[in-house]
Amino acid sequence: VIAQGLPTRSVLTTCAYCGVGCSFRAELQGDRLVRMVPSKEGRANHGHSCVKGRFAYGYASHPDRITRPMIRDSIEDPWREVGWAEALAFAAGRLRAIQQAHGRRSIGVITSSRCTNEETFLVQKLARAVFRNNNTDTCARVCHSPTGYGLGQAFGTSAGTQDFDSVEASDVILVIGANPTDAHPVFASRMKKRLRAGARLIVIDPRRIDLVRSPHVAAAHHLALRPGTNVAVVSAMAHVIVTEGLIDEAYIRTRCDWDEYLAYAAFIADPRHGPEATELLSGVPAAELRAAARLYATGGNGAIYYGLGVTEHSQGSTAVMGIANLAMLTGNMGRKGVGVNPLRGQNNVQGACDMGSFPHELPGYRHVKNADVRAIYEAAWGVPIDPEPGLRIPNMLDAALEGRFRGLYCQGEDILQSDPDTMHVAAGLKAMDCVIVQDLFLNETAQYAHVFLPGSSFLEKDGTFTNAERRINRVRAVMRPRNGHADWEVTQMLANAMGADWRYGHPSQIMEEIARTTPSFAAVSYDLLDQEGSVQWPCNAEHPEGTPLMHVDGFVRGRGRFIVTEYLPTDEKTGPRFPLLLTTGRILSQYNVGAQTRRTPNAQWHGEDRLEIHPHDAELRGVQEGDWVRLASRSGETSLRATLTDRVSPGVVYTTFHHPDTQANVITTDVSDWATNCPEYKVTAVQVSLSNGP
Ligand code: SF4
Repeated sequence: VIAQGLPTRSVLTTCAYCGVGCSFRAELQGDRLVRMVPSKEGRANHGHSCVKGRFAYGYASHPDRITRPMIRDSIEDPWREVGWAEALAFAAGRLRAIQQAHGRRSIGVITSSRCTNEETFLVQKLARAVFRNNNTDTCARVCHSPTGYGLGQAFGTSAGTQDFDSVEASDVILVIGANPTDAHPVFASRMKKRLRAGARLIVIDPRRIDLVRSPHVAAAHHLALRPGTNVAVVSAMAHVIVTEGLIDEAYIRTRCDWDEYLAYAAFIADPRHGPEATELLSGVPAAELRAAARLYATGGNGAIYYGLGVTEHSQGSTAVMGIANLAMLTGNMGRKGVGVNPLRGQNNVQGACDMGSFPHELPGYRHVKNADVRAIYEAAWGVPIDPEPGLRIPNMLDAALEGRFRGLYCQGEDILQSDPDTMHVAAGLKAMDCVIVQDLFLNETAQYAHVFLPGSSFLEKDGTFTNAERRINRVRAVMRPRNGHADWEVTQMLANAMGADWRYGHPSQIMEEIARTTPSFAAVSYDLLDQEGSVQWPCNAEHPEGTPLMHVDGFVRGRGRFIVTEYLPTDEKTGPRFPLLLTTGRILSQYNVGAQTRRTPNAQWHGEDRLEIHPHDAELRGVQEGDWVRLASRSGETSLRATLTDRVSPGVVYTTFHHPDTQANVITTDVSDWATNCPEYKVTAVQVSLSNGP
């Protein structure tokens, strides 16, 4: 569908890659997509874009796309192409049979951050209103679930506090566990513009990311901590702020719970949280810790941006709460230029969480145990809602191995490739009686599927995505679905095949239902989005035009809550067999496991994942630039080529995970965040040795 020539029409839509949510005009020549042009009206991107959104859309017309449903009796059988009616009857029959034999909680769903809000809302509704259980989880489980928990506990809601424009008023920018230049490029450009204008930068990251030293930008402090010590480093900064009298006492007294602050202050003032003790744990010099804390507390408007380098740890939720403590201690909340801002990796992670994809929350972050909230959905859907929280993805897999969980509908997610401990995921999937995979391509998870339902790309559907600043953007169909149906229609057909009577004619009707039942979306409609371009939730009678800044006059939960953040070392320890720590990240041109970007011209810029290793560690192992090395952990091993660089410190190695051949998740362990089960992708004890290749 990509062709040279002048466009004859254009459609305004939203990029389907990262959480910046850039607006594009898809320009067409007749029905052929000619190019994607960033829109100047886009409130998140103001006419800017990156190489993914601009050029990496050809996967939508790639010949690998599966366009007809397929079924098979067992995973040993070959696939059989069938019509939609037969595939859905087959799937519904199996799911019903499982529930009759094993109870209503024996099946569940996994929603995708790649899909629209409306599609995600329907998938969790399928679980709650048709399966009649809360077994719904989302790929946010493996990325920002600690954000949901941590910010919810501290502030009362799980979302970034600022709009992107706010960075223009920042005096100090603290980036922790994020690499915006590669993962959120358009927002990184806005950040760099502010830094060039004089804002000061603190980077907390084990690796020297580009932002530390790029043209006309240099970090005032780079705290190159040992992987796994975020909580200790954040606590050390809080210790300096509290013990040196750098707190904003007036802010804490008026906006936060003072008694909880006093308890936290007594805890954090203990010398074991001080810079000297933390230097021993983290490797960050005490003087650097002190200087960074003083700069953040006294440098004017201080804004914190963080990413998966914070959340994907055994203490991911604790680190998020520690970051919230820093912002409240210094009064860096509730105005332009400040705040706590998770940089969401996928286009609609925020939306997937907002729409009730987690097993304990109905849409709008309201617990399923709350009878008043259940009553809203019981009235709307005409069925009782299960008051018991459902299973998270890892619990679904464990329950499958115990025979308690036997059927899964997985939309737009490749859990075999993207979730940790691949062998465990495979065993769990293999133990199920019915796995339904819906995707663009025959993904890795489909090896264990009995039903494959072809998915539709973002170019083929209408709906909305919500970006990292809570901005609800319209997604508009540029072309007809290649498989005949958009994803929301497929979910509706599956629900009806199981006995429901859903009659949505357009995603706008799904949004009307979301608005009727979710207070933070009460005033959202397609008419409003068409009129305004986009709005940021909460958008309701109180905030009819949306809410760029949150927690301005008070926190969603009332008073801000300081939470004691005790550092507990991860169980994943180095030792003689595995003396190095592996951490992972992304590269600008590629996206996640590469299913889309590898099927576009962007593939030319990243032919393989490589292992970054410090020259000192390489020399000890006789490894030279470009050598094949064996990378082994307690979970498994893989091979890749080495790049020698001092971007990583001695003792730390790093790789990207965009190529399936790398099999990064064969290496990662099953250690996870204590509160949310988010996997600890960022810390794996490994050994590196010379090898002969894959
Ligand atoms: Fe797409 Fe993100 Fe790039 Fe914008 S910055 S074009 S949303 S990948």
